[in-house]
Amino acid sequence: MHPRNRHAGRYDFPALLRALPELAAFTQPSPTGDPTIDFANPTAVLALNRALLRAHYALKDWQLPSGYLCPPIPGRVDYLHHLADLLAADAGEIPRGASIRVLDIGTGANCIYPLLGAAEYGWSFVGTETDAAAVRAAQANVDFNPALAGRIEVRRQTHSTALFEGVTAARETFAATICNPPFHASAAEARAGTARKVRNLGGNARAPALNFGGRANELWCPGGEAAFVRRMIRESADRPELSRWFTTLVSKRENLGTLERSLNQVRPAQTRIIPMAQGQKQSRVLAWTFQSGSAA
Ligand code: SAH
Repeated sequence: MHPRNRHAGRYDFPALLRALPELAAFTQPSPTGDPTIDFANPTAVLALNRALLRAHYALKDWQLPSGYLCPPIPGRVDYLHHLADLLAADAGEIPRGASIRVLDIGTGANCIYPLLGAAEYGWSFVGTETDAAAVRAAQANVDFNPALAGRIEVRRQTHSTALFEGVTAARETFAATICNPPFHASAAEARAGTARKVRNLGGNARAPALNFGGRANELWCPGGEAAFVRRMIRESADRPELSRWFTTLVSKRENLGTLERSLNQVRPAQTRIIPMAQGQKQSRVLAWTFQSGSAA
C-alpha cells in the first residue's frame, strides 16, 4: 500500500468500535484471536466502512442502498494517494484545498473517491454517474456530511457511452480526472467474477452475497474495461484542455497493451503507469496529459 495509506497495519478495532458501536454485532475473533469481521457478509463490510470513514476521515455517516458496490476503503484511498503524488510532481508539493478540482467518472452510489479525497486532501470533486438511483444515493452520502458541503457535486450522465461530454461545461477545467471503470465485458462475466471473489473470501457465493460485488450493471459495460478506457482516451483527445491529468484504474494487466496503443494514437505529451498493490491484488493507474512539463 501507499506509505501514506492509513490502513497499512491492522484495523484498530477499539477505535472503530468507539466510532460505530453497532460494529460490535459484526465483530468476531479471527483464527489468531484478533478481532475481525466476515468479509463475505456485505452488511458487515458496510458497517466496517461506516466505522472507518468516521474514525479516520471524520465523516459523519455513509450509507449504501442494498445491492450497490461496497468498496474496500484501503484500496480506494490508495489511488488518491498516488494521484496526490502525481500532482505533487508538477506542483513541487502535494496540492491541497478546494481549488484542486477532480472529476470522478462513475462515482457510484458509494461516492467513495469524492468523500475520501475531500476528507484527506480537501480537494473538491465533481462525481458523474449514469445510474439514477446511484446518483441519488451518492448525493445522500454528500448530504450526510455537511462539513463537505459545496466541495462535492454529483452530476447525472444521461448518455451511457459518453464520459466527459454532457457532464462538463465547455470552459470547465480540472486538475485530474479519475475513474474506476466497469471492468467486466458482460453481466455473466460480472456474476462469475463476483462469485469467485466471494469464494476467495471464504463465503458462500449465493444470491445475498452477490450484493457484495455490486449490481451487475455497475460492473460491466459492452467491451469491458478496455472499451470503456479506449472511449475515455478518445474523448480526452477531443478535450485536451479539460484536465491537467486524465487517469483511470486498469484492473486487468492484459488490457495495458491495447490501451497504450490507443494512447499513442492521440499523442499525449506524457504518459504514466503507476503500479499499485493492496495485499495480493495488483492494479495500476494509467495517467496521461496533453500538457508538457509543470502545470504552473
Ligand atoms: N467509483 C465507484 C463505483 C465504480 S463502478 C467505486 O470505485 O466503487 C463504475 C460506475 O460507473 C458504476 O456506478 C456505473 O453505473 C458507472 N458508469 C458506467 N458508465 C458510465 C458513464 N458513461 N458515465 C458515468 N458513470 C458511468
